[in-house]
Formats: sequence, structure tokens, C-alpha cells
Amino acid sequence: MSDKDRILIFDTTMRDGEQSPGASMTHKEKLDLAEILEAMGVDIIEAGFPNSSQGDFEAVSEIARRSKSATICGLSRATEKDIQRCGDAVRHAARPRIHTFISTSPVHMKHKLQMGPNAVLEAVGHSVSFARNLVDDVEWSPEDATRTEFDFLCKCIDAAITSGATTINVPDTVGYMHPEEYGALIRSLRETIPNSDKVIWSTHCHNDLGLAVANSIAGAQNGARQIECTINGLGERAGNAALEEVVMAFKVRGDSLPFETGIDTTRLARASQMVSRITGFPVQYNKAIVGKNAFAHESGIHQDGMLKNTETYEIMKPEDVGVSKSSLVMGKLSGRNAFRDKLKMLGYELDPDSLNEAFRRFKDLADKKKHVFDDDILALVDDQLSAMGERVAFRSLRVIAGSEGPQTADLKVLVDGEEKTASCQGNGPVDAVFNAIRAIVDHKAKLDLFQVHAVTGGTDAQAEVSVRLNGEGVMAVGRASDPDTLVASAKAYIHALNKLEARRLKRLAA
Ligand SMILES: [Zn+2]
Repeated sequence: MSDKDRILIFDTTMRDGEQSPGASMTHKEKLDLAEILEAMGVDIIEAGFPNSSQGDFEAVSEIARRSKSATICGLSRATEKDIQRCGDAVRHAARPRIHTFISTSPVHMKHKLQMGPNAVLEAVGHSVSFARNLVDDVEWSPEDATRTEFDFLCKCIDAAITSGATTINVPDTVGYMHPEEYGALIRSLRETIPNSDKVIWSTHCHNDLGLAVANSIAGAQNGARQIECTINGLGERAGNAALEEVVMAFKVRGDSLPFETGIDTTRLARASQMVSRITGFPVQYNKAIVGKNAFAHESGIHQDGMLKNTETYEIMKPEDVGVSKSSLVMGKLSGRNAFRDKLKMLGYELDPDSLNEAFRRFKDLADKKKHVFDDDILALVDDQLSAMGERVAFRSLRVIAGSEGPQTADLKVLVDGEEKTASCQGNGPVDAVFNAIRAIVDHKAKLDLFQVHAVTGGTDAQAEVSVRLNGEGVMAVGRASDPDTLVASAKAYIHALNKLEARRLKRLAA
């Protein structure tokens, strides 16, 4: 038995994370992400806000149905309708949880709820009992807890516990706290409220001052045993506590932080890449744990030290978080079996047809690019999987670019299996390519974001392009990679368009 206290990891990437502007995820992307989170050992997955949309309801229901070990949680406001809908979505899970909340701070009660303290207190008891009649596992949150008057906060939490809440979450909704203060709040709540030892205390810290992780750890040091967090720290405004940072802080500093989590840390890098790809939000290069430079040693003095002993400058190993050292992997001569083994190692099991197609794409890429790295293969397979069954499919592109205009794009695509072509000019080659897509597939969506990254180093590196389209409030992020930046741009735009179309149809159906 370990002498460390177990901290439950509650991931809210799909709920709080998805709420951040532009970070929307499709149904399929949520299912894939839930699978990765569960395999990684996340204890509780907050899969969405079932009463906020039909899409969220369906995603939470299906994630619940597919779940094996993780608790699947949905968020709901304090109304019966919200809670019922949430219960209907999570009830298929092996371990269902309803997370219900109401605002308790003076400013929120007055301006957001237009309710007085007594009405709020009554709603707390009622909502928690109602939820408890649907499931055994109920979490309750006082929204904006850290700006709530202490005595009133205690009364509300007491009411929630008396009505059957099993987890009490203390959100720093506006990201205002500093660690000592937040830790002290958790401690005094636990000391003041009767039966506080009958529930699990939880942190939910926002990162407006860059203190979300520090505050969460202070919460644990003062008795919290659940930490709410997100992959890459995604979340409203400046985001939430980053799951990977919380987990690695406990792992690396177990000497003075006597806590452990159930997370398999070697899966952190992959989860981070996946969330970044899905949302189109790049991971900052110097981001702790999962940034591109987190384990890079550039200066001569550091490199010299590292060669003699890696502990000189490294407090953890890249392998600990799933960054493989030997990233040089394959080339033109690599065979099918080696390729299949590589995919397996990267976490993919493809059916024979998909494997054939992936291998064909890999050979294609190896013809253009001497060294094919793990990241190239990940990008290639992700592209292939995301393009499956789409209405519009890329076929070919020829572009005239350079200083002697006009820049022109000749594009060929399949729309519902039928070949269509367009030749368009534009203000630069990317504009010409996007104009050609618009000429073939008429649509009103606006381009919100266009960004290009190199998948690996070198001038022959693949370009990974993210495109975000905004179609009257419905967002979709498309991404694609190719050694040719313009081809990647065309594919990414088409990918976004397909996703937007799928969402529009779903909306119509609902
Ligand atoms: Zn939040």
C-alpha cells in the first residue's frame, strides 16, 4: 500500500474546455477523446452539458454507453429539466454522475440569477435531492465560490451535503485566488461545515492569473481529493488547471507533495497533441510538460551537461510523459509490417482497408520526404481517419504563385462522388485556393482562423494547416497535413467545410 493520498483526476476538457471560443469538437472527436482519457486513467470525465444542446446530449449519452471504468459526468444548472436531461444522458454509464451548480456570489445572484440568497439556498437543497433521486453520485458546485460571502457559502454547502451531495466542488470561477488563500478557504470550509468528512472536496481553478495549477495543488494540501482540470489547460478565457502539469507535479515532487493519481503519464503527450489538433489551438512552445521545447536543451553548456548526465538539467524524462527519444523512424524502404508495428506503438489499430490506405499514403510521403518521423505518421493517420466518409473530397491542386501574379489555383474535388473543377485567382495563392473551393461548394461561412505549423523540423517538413470556419455561429475546425503547404491548406479548408455541413444537417434534424 502506498502512503500517499489518492487524488481523483476530473477532466473537463469536453465541457469547460469546449466552452472556450472556437474550441468546438465534433461528436466523433469527443468519442475519440473520451477513449484516450479513459485509457489514460482519468477518474471522472465531464463529457458535456446535456441540456445545452442536442449534440451535447448525444455525445454525453454515447460516451456514457461506451465507458468502462471511468465515471461519466454531465453538468446541469439547478432546474429540474436540466437535471433530468443530465440524468437521462449519463444513466447508461457504469458509473454515472450528475454535476449540478448554482451561483452563490452576491454579484452573480443579483445580475445573473436575479434571485435572493434564500431562494438560492432553497434551490441548492431541491436540485441536489432531485439529482440524488436519479443517481447515487452527485457533485455540487457553488459557482463563483471564491467571491461568495463565507457564511452563506457554508450554509449552501451544508444544504448540499444534507440533501445528498457526494462531492463538493469549490470553483474559483473568475481565477482570482492565490494559492495560500485558496488553500485556506478549502481548509476553513472543511473545518466549519458539519459532516464535511462525508464528502470529497474538489478544486476547479481558472487560470486568469496563471495560478490555476498552483491553486489546485494548494487545495490538495488542504484536504481536496479531486482536482478538476483539462488537457493543455483548455477552458474559458485563460483556461483551467492543466491536467498534465498537476499530474506531473505530484509525480516529480512526491517527496513533499504526498499525493498520487491514477494517470498513466506516458500518454500525456499524445492526449495533448490530440486536443490541439481537434481544437486548432496550438500548444505554446515553452508550455510545461507538453510544449515542443519542454525537453529541448539548446545552449552549449546545457547540452554538455546533458551528455554527461541527463539529471544535470532534467527533473523528469521525456519518456515519462510519452515523448519518444528516438523520433527518427522510417523511410522509403520500410515495409508494411514495420509500418503496422509502428502504428500499434503509436496507439492505432486499423482495419485491413484503412491500413492499406495508410500504408499507401506513407509510401507517398516517404517518396517526397527522406525521413518520416512519428509526428508525420500521427498527422497522416489522423488526416485519413478524419477525412473518412466526407461529402467533399480533395482530388488535386495546381497553383501558380510567386511575385509575378495573378496567383491562380486549379482545383479538382469530388462532391458526393462526382468530380468538379474550378480555376480561380486570388490575392495570393492561399486566397486563390480558397476561392476555388468556394466556387465549387457555395457557402456563407467566414474564415476565422488560418494557421500553418511544421510537423517536424527541416525544409522538407510537412505543413500542418488548421482552418476555422464560422457559419452563422456554428464553428468547425479543419486540419490537414501535406509536404505542400497549399495542398494542406485546401484539404484543411475542405475538412472544416465537411464538419460544418455535418453540424448544419444535425441541427436541421434536431
Ligand atoms: Zn470553469
